[in-house]
Amino acid sequence: MNQTNGSRNGHPPGRELTFSWTFPVVLTRRCAWACGYCPYPVSPSPPLPSRARLQQLLGMARSLGLRQVRITGGEGVENHPEVFETCRFYGFRSYSEYLRSVLGEVTRNGASPPLFPELDLGALSFVQMQQLRERVFTLRLYLDSMDEKLQYGTAHGLSRGKWAKHRLTALISAGRLGIPVNSGLMVGIGEQADSRLRALETLARLAERYGHIQSVTIHPFEPYPRTPMANCPPAAVEEILPTVAEARQLLPASVAVQIPASRFPEHVVEFVAAGADDLGDFDLKGDAAADEGVLAAFKAVKERLAGIGIRPVDRLSLFPRFSTAQWMSRYYQTLLRQTDAAGAAAVAPPRR
Ligand code: SF4
Repeated sequence: MNQTNGSRNGHPPGRELTFSWTFPVVLTRRCAWACGYCPYPVSPSPPLPSRARLQQLLGMARSLGLRQVRITGGEGVENHPEVFETCRFYGFRSYSEYLRSVLGEVTRNGASPPLFPELDLGALSFVQMQQLRERVFTLRLYLDSMDEKLQYGTAHGLSRGKWAKHRLTALISAGRLGIPVNSGLMVGIGEQADSRLRALETLARLAERYGHIQSVTIHPFEPYPRTPMANCPPAAVEEILPTVAEARQLLPASVAVQIPASRFPEHVVEFVAAGADDLGDFDLKGDAAADEGVLAAFKAVKERLAGIGIRPVDRLSLFPRFSTAQWMSRYYQTLLRQTDAAGAAAVAPPRR
């Protein structure tokens, strides 16, 4: 939390906590892996959005008054026959080429208001990150867990890409390429409590070595219907709170400890007291019923925080302290200069 006399994450002084209004764009639910808690493998996956469909989605984000989109999709799908064939059908030679065009579409010159993309596509390879670097604003890349036992259980038994060594390789690649990362770990997927400490210590070391970790989300497990872990209990608040406190203790002060406040508005004050200093994303989708719930959650969070003298402040996925030439490609330096969107200044609430 930013105190009146501090600016830990580059926010202006004041009692405030950051969060982000975000529009999620799902490219595909196809995935090479099958994590026991993930709804993607048990959900239908529409084809990759065409340029026209993408423009429609981005138009919706703009009409909602948003400036941040999260490009999300399954992992390791480059060679999935459906994904590959669709890319070819659209005239691209590869999925990476398609991704470049998606990022180009999000940040299209002259589009107003400009949108800023966070890539949430899991463990991309070094080469993929390098190829996309110019248009990558931030990556969402969780470490997830350091508990090796999960590799033999329901959570990650069918998800080699989620094994710690692969996540670490990707996090190191992002660090070597100077890509700002919003990372995180899962709580309640069957991991041992001491493995959470190892995960936090690992993220702390990565942050100290490369400086690229902007935030670490303490992500509570939530059971989804039809998944292998549908009948497992959700992560308990009593389990999450100490992890938030440990995160704040172990991570460098420059790394924000994030909690998905939209899911726990009633506990936000406890999370803040435990050390959380970012409220995560509030996703709006242009779906009246779903958005109503998110806006109600935001209102509840705002009211509870007001009770302890804290104001939520909107930010981009790139935290203000990363809005420097070191962490942005030339493209985004220019775009942010033009739009003056880099600061943490309050923006108008989303239109509905
Ligand atoms: S790798 Fe990601 S998208 Fe794929 S199954 Fe696991 S959580 Fe879901």
